[in-house]
Amino acid sequence: MKKILIVVLLLALLADVDIACSQKSNVPKKPKNVVLLIGDGMGLGSIYSLIAVRDNTAFEQFKHIGFSKTQSADNFITDSGAGGSALSTGKRIKNKQIAIDPVTKEPLETLVELSNKNGLKTGVVSACAITHATPASFLSHSDSRYKQEEIALNMLPTNPTLFIGGGRDYFEKREDGLNLSDSLRTRGFQVVYTMDELLNVKTEKVAGLLYDDNPKSMLNGRGDFLPVSSEKALELLSQNNDKGFFLMIEGSQIDFESHDNNYLGMIAEMDDFNATLNKVLDFARKDGNTLVVVTADHETGGLTPLDSSSVSTRNARYNTFGHTPVMVPVFAFGPNSETFCGIYNNNTVFDKIVAFLFGR
Ligand SMILES: [Zn+2]
Repeated sequence: MKKILIVVLLLALLADVDIACSQKSNVPKKPKNVVLLIGDGMGLGSIYSLIAVRDNTAFEQFKHIGFSKTQSADNFITDSGAGGSALSTGKRIKNKQIAIDPVTKEPLETLVELSNKNGLKTGVVSACAITHATPASFLSHSDSRYKQEEIALNMLPTNPTLFIGGGRDYFEKREDGLNLSDSLRTRGFQVVYTMDELLNVKTEKVAGLLYDDNPKSMLNGRGDFLPVSSEKALELLSQNNDKGFFLMIEGSQIDFESHDNNYLGMIAEMDDFNATLNKVLDFARKDGNTLVVVTADHETGGLTPLDSSSVSTRNARYNTFGHTPVMVPVFAFGPNSETFCGIYNNNTVFDKIVAFLFGR
């Protein structure tokens, strides 16, 4: 009887071990690369406006979707400085601040700095000046988003692998007379000023300053700057890629157009963001080891689409020229993307990315 009992216990134990092992083998592998796309001001109103008038948008391909609560440390309605910094540092800070502690004002380590420290390559691509609030949140530190010359200077020690955007004047036409593009060259960057130069770059250390300040809007002829720059960034970061990379891409002017309550302009910016997202998803599908996360820093305009028959200003209503406090969606694709389902604070997007990339 005792023997039978021991055998039964042993079998139960083995069964337990079996379950534990199979659970272990079910744990999804960590992604090697992470691409975070931020549509500035891109709420559900913007996304659904696009889905209503276009077929097969990139957004509709995602299976794992959650919601991010965008409040800042001092305001129910965030600005892009605090909104971007929550995503880049994992901390909620005060509006207008850029990646600094809201009380001590000490710099907070950003995803780009953390990735550098862990041996990953890093990149930022933005459809505005690279010193503007959202890209600055990943590349710099300042007590004010409006100090764009200081933000450019504070980018130097961050030393990403590459960055591409506008804002050349903040590097070269400065009140202090410094030429930060020369400083970038000293640090090994190839500084490029045109799309032709960018596309001919072969090595990954690149500073792309393609516009004096913000690039033009899509309606005013920006063309395919964002999707093409993003594709080039992916090409450069994925060559000789042993340890992986972190890349942030911002569709900046969805926000600008909604501040102007310009529905046609907003749709044009969403088309551009959607084209960029398709390029990133193509890369991630081929690569198989890249986590893609798409979200916004906040909603802008309180936008409601009213009709899907055509892209016309008659077919949408804006409720404000400012930002709103509503949750914004988070779309995730690739290894561990299911963990982005649910409702959570904006700063925990950082925690999820960091847990996967560095196992913290
Ligand atoms: Zn805004």
